[in-house]
Amino acid sequence: MARSVTEWVGKTHNSPIPKAVQLRVFDRSQGHCTLCSLKIEAGQEWHCDHRIPLKDGGEHRETNLQAAHASCHRWKTGRENSERASVTRKRAKHVGITRPTSKFSKHGRAVSDLARELHGQPGFERYDEARAEAERRLR
Ligand SMILES: [Zn+2]
Repeated sequence: MARSVTEWVGKTHNSPIPKAVQLRVFDRSQGHCTLCSLKIEAGQEWHCDHRIPLKDGGEHRETNLQAAHASCHRWKTGRENSERASVTRKRAKHVGITRPTSKFSKHGRAVSDLARELHGQPGFERYDEARAEAERRLR
């Protein structure tokens, strides 16, 4: 009788996946990347990918893991993250959340600094007088 193996479940989302579990994941995927379906060659870097991402409510457990090339895994994660960001942007816009207000202008300077520079900086008046003087001479 085959020995039955109980499914590994991570205690926390950061729990390292034991080597024996990684091997079972690899074997279940028959040594192929579940994302591109190509064989994972000896020495090629591969990861245990969460089928349903943890960020989307997936569980850190053996049945939610699948083998994937490291590069394919990074591609999938990037796609998931940009899709998640897009959903957040659309939802925020839909419910009327705009950019958080900031004391910084879009040029990255504090508005108060800019106001001081334009209206209250010493030299502003002097410059104006010099210009007025020059204009008078031209007349
Ligand atoms: Zn792949």
